Amino acid sequence: MNHPSQAVVDLSAIRHNVALLRDHAPGAEMMVAVKADAYGHGLVRCAHAALQGGAGRLGVAYVREALELRAAFVEAPILAWIIPPGEPLDEAVTQDVELSAGAIWLVDEIAAAARRTGRVAKVHLKADTGISRGGATAADWPTLVDHALKARAEGVIDVVGVWSHFACADIPGDGSIQSQLDLFEEALKIADDAGVGSHVIRHFANSAATLTVPQARYDMVRPGIAAFGLSPIPELGDFGLRQAMTLKAQVAMAKRVPAGSGVSYGHQYVTDRETTLALIPLGYADGIMRHATNTCEVLAAGVRRRVAGRVCMDQFVIDVGDDPVRAGDVVTLFGPGDAGEPTLQEWADALGTITHEIVTRIGARVPRVYV
Ligand SMILES: *Cc1c(COP(=O)(O)O)cnc(C)c1O
Repeated sequence: MNHPSQAVVDLSAIRHNVALLRDHAPGAEMMVAVKADAYGHGLVRCAHAALQGGAGRLGVAYVREALELRAAFVEAPILAWIIPPGEPLDEAVTQDVELSAGAIWLVDEIAAAARRTGRVAKVHLKADTGISRGGATAADWPTLVDHALKARAEGVIDVVGVWSHFACADIPGDGSIQSQLDLFEEALKIADDAGVGSHVIRHFANSAATLTVPQARYDMVRPGIAAFGLSPIPELGDFGLRQAMTLKAQVAMAKRVPAGSGVSYGHQYVTDRETTLALIPLGYADGIMRHATNTCEVLAAGVRRRVAGRVCMDQFVIDVGDDPVRAGDVVTLFGPGDAGEPTLQEWADALGTITHEIVTRIGARVPRVYV
């Protein structure tokens, strides 16, 4: 390793996962969500891997992320879905970034950007069917559709999609899944009656719904987390997905200490015997959450060892007993589990969170290395 730590990203795992997800949604197009630096895995490389795996489109949260892909010569259709006021809409339209509109004022803003740039803006109309985040409520939906169709008649926007997002797709059998589907059907009917046209792409399913709610697949699915090999519904297993990321670090130093040595801030770990402590050069500034203190495990010299004492900003310690661990040895914090290392799911379970949060928080100081 030429850096004290690295997040190794297995691009073939991403291709495998995307292909597997495609098999779950035969006949539907696939947009892979690569927001938040491709869930911490690295935007551009993972976007290419997703496209190679069979995705036809990419989804991001912010226009800025879409423009970053365009700057890297990614030509596939890209949808950006969080558009606060003041976003660079002219540039988005010029760069052929598709935009989600879930508010009436936003349809008007996008139309204005199209008029200024002389380009046709591609818009996906978003219905809020029960998550109460983005998207138009049922009350606003007819007006939203109306504004979009007027702008289309003027020739400034093209309505390419109608879509929504689930609140509880990761809770199998949750009643809200069907009620959201029912409301989506109503929104589709209103759009259809208004003349949106049958060519629009209807899309709804995130990873969990792609894998478990067949009737939510419509014309396109929109998985994110599963493309990176992380289960959207851990209780149901891994669905054959392969974890793409392995987080490794070199031991910065190792030393023998006597019994009774207090370790790290607050002395929340005290050695109960003479032992070897190994210093790991990763901390909460790198996304190793402080809650990992005395909780999460890493693989060192083939043995699982728990974080010993507080996770600091740049470092933490493990107690390796009498194992011959030395400075420079590589430890694995998490990986696919093939060599006995913890998986991201184990880390998430130990931390009381979801894998999404762990991977997206791996800091900029940790180089992503692609294999
Ligand atoms: C993040 C996101 C997705 C992907 O969700 P996963 O649960 O990671 O599959 C799909 N659609 C929208 C709107 C999102 O924000």
